[in-house]
Amino acid sequence: MTSYDYLILGHGLAGATLAYELRQRGRTVLVLDETRPDSASNVAAGLMNPVTGQRFVLTWLADELLSAAAVFYRKLEAEYGQQFFFETPILKLFSSVKEQNDIVSRSADEPWGAFVEEISSALPPITGVKTGLGGIFIRRCGYVAVREMLAALAADGLHNGWLRHETFAWNDLVIDQTGVTYKGAIQARQFVCCEGAAAMRNPYFNWLPITANQGEVLDVQCDGLSTEQVLNKGGYVVPLGAGQFRVGATYRWPPLPLGTTPEALTELGQRFSEMSDQPFTVVDQRAGFRPAVRDRKPVLGTHPAWPVLSIFNGFGSKGVMLAPRLATHFANVLEGTEALWPEVNISRYHSLYISVPSEVGVSS
Ligand SMILES: Cc1cc2nc3c(=O)[nH]c(=O)nc-3n(C[C@H](O)[C@H](O)[C@H](O)COP(=O)(O)OP(=O)(O)OC[C@H]3O[C@@H](n4cnc5c(N)ncnc54)[C@H](O)[C@@H]3O)c2cc1C
Repeated sequence: MTSYDYLILGHGLAGATLAYELRQRGRTVLVLDETRPDSASNVAAGLMNPVTGQRFVLTWLADELLSAAAVFYRKLEAEYGQQFFFETPILKLFSSVKEQNDIVSRSADEPWGAFVEEISSALPPITGVKTGLGGIFIRRCGYVAVREMLAALAADGLHNGWLRHETFAWNDLVIDQTGVTYKGAIQARQFVCCEGAAAMRNPYFNWLPITANQGEVLDVQCDGLSTEQVLNKGGYVVPLGAGQFRVGATYRWPPLPLGTTPEALTELGQRFSEMSDQPFTVVDQRAGFRPAVRDRKPVLGTHPAWPVLSIFNGFGSKGVMLAPRLATHFANVLEGTEALWPEVNISRYHSLYISVPSEVGVSS
């Protein structure tokens, strides 16, 4: 029997950031991950955008989240000798005169601070970009090569024994008040579920309002488009290097398709053409499932009946920006040095919990 402080299910952005944080504190950690190609983290464009949505508002804790994320990704770069975080301005292109007027008129009162530097109805020409009605440059943001970063971490984990590639089997888990035992061979005092949208099938947490939201991205080759900024107009165009760009993303609620769809191919191609006048060829199309929560905030905390079980999930469409700061916060909570922030506390959904017969492996 091998004993760990923490057994973590899932090595997407959630599991990876939390495992890293706990290992930094000297805790023993084992992560189990089945490497799903349709995990959200494997598909994500990796954008960190502090000012979003149709109303163009500053996102929750933007300043704090972005600062923590930049420190985290830079630290991993130093550790693995590879660039993951690309600090790049986002050029939000106005979609209509109304949007242009709304944003310009609100600009004096909005707390965008240093994130929004220039609002311009007449942008200078930018190679390959349809600057039409002008736009806004958003600063202190950029994108993360999530897949590459997780691959570097996973290689480390496999080599150093803190990660195993395997499918977790709920029937092999035994829980008591002091910890969990898995397959009769692994013991841990805390089991943290970070399985993204697969949480809908988690027998202990399937009462939470976490829903899979399917999204698709295209990777395109386009040699005539400037790579100095991310473009945003409904969708986004993220420079990947070597003349390639990621175009995203679609949002689709159940019933969910399996795999990529011709509708998304058309929709994303049109989005690209709304932002660029350059020809392009599609080199890849991928689909994944975001773990979306009813109130659009992550869900963190321990199970109402089993304090040795916890969840770190619900990162929706903003995992890249949210996960590093919340991993530090949740590690503090698990280690008993900080109380859970109310906005992300699982207790806001406790009224949905009833002891579910499908809970398996509980030893009384
Ligand atoms: C098309 C698309 C574009 C996106 N673009 C962005 C973006 O630009 N910026 C941004 O911030 N966010 C973006 N997101 C959202 C972002 O990807 C998510 O917020 C984030 O990746 C969620 O991470 P996670 O670890 O919770 O879940 P996941 O990435 O889904 O990871 C869950 C992990 O659990 C593992 N797992 C599940 N079940 C089991 C099991 N039974 N046994 C073993 N392992 C298991 C899976 O293999 C997977 O590795 C995008 C998402 C999609 C789909």
